[in-house]
Amino acid sequence: MSRPLPGFAAVDPPREGWTPTRGRSRPERLDATLDTLPGVGPALRKRLAKLGLERTGDLLSYRPRDYQRPLPPRRIADLFGDEEALIEGEVLRTSSRHGRGRLRILTAHITDGSGEIAATWFNQSWLQEKLTAGTRVRLRGQKNRYGFSVRSFDLNGGGATADFAPVYPASEEVASGKLRELVEAALPFADDRPDPLPAALKVERGLPLRADALVALHRPRSLAEAEEGRRRLAFDELLTLQLALARQTAEREESVAAALPAPGELIERYRAELPFTLTEHQESAIAEIDGDLARTVPMQRLLQGDVGSGKTVVALYALLRAVESGRQGALMAPTETLAEQHFLTVEGICAQLGVSCALVTGSVRARGPEADVTVGTHALIQQGFSFRDLAVAVVDEQHRFGVEQRSALAEGRAPHVLHMTATPIPRTLALTVYGDLAVSEIAKPPASRKPIVTAWVTDEKSSEAYTRLRAHLAEGRQAYVVCPLIEESATSDARAAEQEAAQLRDGELKGFRVGCMHGRLKPADRRELMARFKAGELDVLVATTVIEVGVDVPNATIMIVQEADRFGLAQLHQLRGRVGRGAEQSYCLLISRSKDELTESARDRLEALVATTDGFELAERDLEIRGGGQLLGARQSGLSDLRFARISKDVGLLEEARDAARTLPPETMAAEVDAFLGAAEHLGES
Ligand code: ADP
Ligand code: MG
Repeated sequence: MSRPLPGFAAVDPPREGWTPTRGRSRPERLDATLDTLPGVGPALRKRLAKLGLERTGDLLSYRPRDYQRPLPPRRIADLFGDEEALIEGEVLRTSSRHGRGRLRILTAHITDGSGEIAATWFNQSWLQEKLTAGTRVRLRGQKNRYGFSVRSFDLNGGGATADFAPVYPASEEVASGKLRELVEAALPFADDRPDPLPAALKVERGLPLRADALVALHRPRSLAEAEEGRRRLAFDELLTLQLALARQTAEREESVAAALPAPGELIERYRAELPFTLTEHQESAIAEIDGDLARTVPMQRLLQGDVGSGKTVVALYALLRAVESGRQGALMAPTETLAEQHFLTVEGICAQLGVSCALVTGSVRARGPEADVTVGTHALIQQGFSFRDLAVAVVDEQHRFGVEQRSALAEGRAPHVLHMTATPIPRTLALTVYGDLAVSEIAKPPASRKPIVTAWVTDEKSSEAYTRLRAHLAEGRQAYVVCPLIEESATSDARAAEQEAAQLRDGELKGFRVGCMHGRLKPADRRELMARFKAGELDVLVATTVIEVGVDVPNATIMIVQEADRFGLAQLHQLRGRVGRGAEQSYCLLISRSKDELTESARDRLEALVATTDGFELAERDLEIRGGGQLLGARQSGLSDLRFARISKDVGLLEEARDAARTLPPETMAAEVDAFLGAAEHLGES
């Protein structure tokens, strides 16, 4: 067969040999800052940056949230009022003049046979030379007292933005129309980046060229065309994700971990020390972990289970397995507060077993890396903290890539890694985010556990809620009061919490010992407060959402959440998980303003919480309420990095990407994969 001609769409460029042409792509143009576009000065540049738009390329990947729907054309003679209308006609003549300030007004007289109208554009003088007499135009806009003010338009049958003009996520400071103009100005650079997908793959999967997809996304002639463009871009994202996973898997398979001997005496004592027997689910997770630890392939296992299902007990088991063989274990949490709380849990049992345990965070370096078990934030590994012999790492609620990989490099030997998460993610999603990570699930909490009773009461009944809370305290139980969410800053949150605590000490909770916990406390104070609450020296903990995760005080049996309507569903579910951790019946009382003052989605959220305590059910409900928006926990999982893919709907596309990733050579889209992994690591560090 003769070689196909270069330049033909289905042929990949040779590695070398094609001489650059004048029209060659210039990827650097996509990196140009936005003030290189006409009409963008420092002020606008700043406002655009707040929308995450800093470079020309950012505009191209700014996804429209919707498209305008087409309007039937109207005769110029029939235009009336100021409703949006579409007219079609021919240019008679144009003129342009200065308006106030730097405003330039371009006017084109248009006729369609039925009448004539003066169409106006602002600050688009460049258009004048295109609007020569006789040019056919389709204009969408409004009639006003000067003529017709144009919002979007097509010339000579091209583009058709008049029908499906994109509507961009705008801000107070930058209108969607302005964004439309800027994207339009960036669109000519759409093919300045070489298409990263191999040509054969595009042919096989029926995917358009990337540049065409971008044009279709921003200037579609139909909704179907816009969707086709989005699909292509979504495919790129999903493929990048899959390739990144494949690369990590390959790296992992090359690294070697210590194979641990079978469980022995320390584990026996650990089991004996536990005040309960492990559930069937916990036992099977443990058996799976034991299987992994016996091999020299580093474990990469996800331990999934709803809040309070008993994951920590299993995680500690894995850590002790490392200690038992003379090696070390590390437990890493996403925040200092959470690390401190884990430490309080772990330290107690470690002390009973004669195992040394250290907390290492940015602010505390209690003991060096010599301890058998080290608890800390993810920084533990990222800051090159060097362990004597780390065999097992437990990573809590951090699904980012790259974290554990680096430790592997630093050690010369990879630890076994157990990822813990309370974020319920459907199976297909788990595959997207974790690739072929093995999954253990604790599907049910301990049987001794009674489901938390949740009630929703409005403000006027809040004193009854406190009466109920005091009844628990009188029986020697403990309680949480969660303060309203103030989104301004941690400082204002802290101030509000302290005020609330002071008020409660003088009012509803007079005579009880009330502590106040917020993000502005010094770590040492925070630790001491938690320890006192745990030891029963405080009856009530008034707190901000810092108690959201990890706090484990089984004697706390009731929680009041103030202004519960201001919290997200996932957040409330996590908060509620702080009670119901022992055998006693526990309660969660959600207080809100009167029901008719709430938004519909706030009502839906609170109703959902009252209806069920099942995390999976709530995750699905959350998805419905938010209309296919972000999934519960999407932020941690890295899914929010996906702009074009909609995980809930693109399951088919995801499978295609997985297929493709399996057959493509590993260096495919290397730059995209690097960027993806780089961004993930970078986020992990901040
Ligand atoms: P998670 O980490 O999944 O939120 P934890 O491991 O912190 O859950 O467990 C929640 C509470 O349940 C803790 O107080 C723990 O001691 C207790 N617990 C764990 N496993 C069992 C069990 N098998 N039986 C009774 N209580 C348990
Ligand atoms: Mg826990």
